[in-house]
Amino acid sequence: MFETHEDCLAYLEEIRWNGTPICPYCGSTKATKYKKEHRYRCNSCFTSYSVTVGTLFHKTHLDLRKWFSAILLLYKLNRDISIRKLAKEIQVNRATASLIVDRVLNVSPEQSEILGKIVQFISSKS
Ligand SMILES: [Zn+2]
Repeated sequence: MFETHEDCLAYLEEIRWNGTPICPYCGSTKATKYKKEHRYRCNSCFTSYSVTVGTLFHKTHLDLRKWFSAILLLYKLNRDISIRKLAKEIQVNRATASLIVDRVLNVSPEQSEILGKIVQFISSKS
């Protein structure tokens, strides 16, 4: 499993971008990395972004380790887990657990592939 939120971000960058950041706003691959942060500034449209923009992880202010744990649980249990139980397992409130389930169940095919990779990766480590 991942030690920190940043490790999760690095892993997501790897599976989503394969080493080359892609601006989620204009599609440019020319970006400048912020120092010590997993954020980038697009050299074409000058917007800053991280790998979570445009994914189900965007704008949740939730540690990605919790996200990953939730995804693993949902996949292992074939998405058959109550909001209450999930909230307890990953120690978030019910509103957050509900949001996670909602997003995981409604992912796009591209993101479904990402989730599959995450599950595979975590499963192989634990
Ligand atoms: Zn851009």
